[in-house]
Amino acid sequence: MGMATSYSRSPLYSFLAPALLASIFALSSCAAPEPVSRTEFSLGTTCRITLYEKAEKKLFDAAFARIREIEERMSANREGTEIARLNDAAGIEAVSLSADTFLVLSTAIDIAEKSKGALDPSVGPLVKLWGIGTDAARVPEAAEREAAMELIDYRRILLDPERSSAFLLDPGMRVDLGAMAKGYAADETARILKEGGAKRGLIDLGGNIYVFGKKPEGKPWRIGIQDPQDSRGAYLGIVNMEGGSLVTSGGYERFYEEGGKRYHHILDPASGMPAESGLLSVTVVSQSSMLADCLSTTIFVLGPERGMDLAKAFPEEGFALVDADQRVHLVGKLARDFELRSEGPYNLGQ
Ligand code: ADP
Ligand code: MG
Repeated sequence: MGMATSYSRSPLYSFLAPALLASIFALSSCAAPEPVSRTEFSLGTTCRITLYEKAEKKLFDAAFARIREIEERMSANREGTEIARLNDAAGIEAVSLSADTFLVLSTAIDIAEKSKGALDPSVGPLVKLWGIGTDAARVPEAAEREAAMELIDYRRILLDPERSSAFLLDPGMRVDLGAMAKGYAADETARILKEGGAKRGLIDLGGNIYVFGKKPEGKPWRIGIQDPQDSRGAYLGIVNMEGGSLVTSGGYERFYEEGGKRYHHILDPASGMPAESGLLSVTVVSQSSMLADCLSTTIFVLGPERGMDLAKAFPEEGFALVDADQRVHLVGKLARDFELRSEGPYNLGQ
């Protein structure tokens, strides 16, 4: 971050808002054992795991080791990762990928097809050009944006499932899995904790939430969603969850400010600019955090109408789209499980 004009969502808030709400409700039960949390910085964000039973050091160690392994495979910003090797070999040759990276990349390509490229894992040249969230952040010239946009095309990523390899057909192409790597890491963290015997826990990877296990009194988890127009900790509403993941994408999370204007980190491959689709934030709940992470970013780019259409194609998930008129549109499971905070400026849309 470093630069005075570069911001990211306060790491404190990113885990406090949902985790705090979740633990307030968890603690209100007198029978509940004390939760134990551990926090580490990984995947470019604050990662926090809270366990309520079986809070053993070796379980935390195994979970955080897995998160680091995923970062070491999928980061586009570090040298030597699989994605860095794939990008370096663009236009030259295919690169073999771990099952982890292959799965995340192929899911991204699937959603790219379903969204006609609103989400595109080959958005890397544009992400690098803007540099939002890094010391190199700046507003690029139109000609530079166009040159980067020329290189974005998920159809020019060739996957070979037999060999578990990928080939970027054109020199200069770059894959970026930032829209969904944290989600995949949350799924894997949950799997490891459950396999290790944890009965109940909350995982927060920079706002990608995953909860599992029943509360002692059998009540659902209550997770707060941030108000996209109020970074000071007000919340938009609460989601009741039995288990699974909740992910929010918004323009307020990470941005660069210049000339009084904010440029956020979710880019529209069709314009080369930060997406301005008429949505302030998108929340998705799913049993798969990877899918929730991927879809929240995609719908944020698509905007309210096209976003609602995509949401309806996923009947197992739930969606809350907040539009610029402060209306909250609920689709699927969130039509039932979302409680709007009544004091706020928001209303439920139809
Ligand atoms: P966060 O990382 O804040 O949780 P998101 O999950 O919405 O946010 O992902 C944003 C990241 O996804 C960006 O930092 C960038 O790496 C990548 N990205 C930005 N725009 C796109 C896009 N249109 N398609 C795919 N990936 C994108
Ligand atoms: Mg995402």
